[in-house]
Formats: sequence, structure tokens, C-alpha cells
Amino acid sequence: MAKPEDMHQCQTSNCGYIYNPDKGCKKGKVPAGTCWDDLPEDYRCPVCGASKKMFKPLAGQTPVDRC
Ligand SMILES: [Zn+2]
Repeated sequence: MAKPEDMHQCQTSNCGYIYNPDKGCKKGKVPAGTCWDDLPEDYRCPVCGASKKMFKPLAGQTPVDRC
């Protein structure tokens, strides 16, 4: 189970997509178990297309997996 600080949430308005390293991201073709730091720099939010820079650690928030 990923800790909240291991998950990252997209910070763009109207999105809120959360990357969970336990599950990876099917839409982004990221295999389960891939740490955030191991994602390619050109990884994009599968919902809105935002770059990694638009994501922030989820620590302290209620995890909601949307992948
Ligand atoms: Zn997004």
C-alpha cells in the first residue's frame, strides 16, 4: 500500500487526478509499482495532460485512486 507521500495529485483546476505507485497508470502505460521519481520526465497526467511539475505529493490528504 502506497503511503500518501508516495502518491502525487495533479494540481490543475478541474482535475485532481492522483497517481498511485501501487497501481501505476494504465492510460499512461506505467506498470504497477513504479515510483513517482521513476516516472519519465515527459510523463503527463492522463486526464488533463499536465506535466509532472503540476503534481504535488498527496501527504496529509485522503487517498482517492482515479487511475
Ligand atoms: Zn491532471
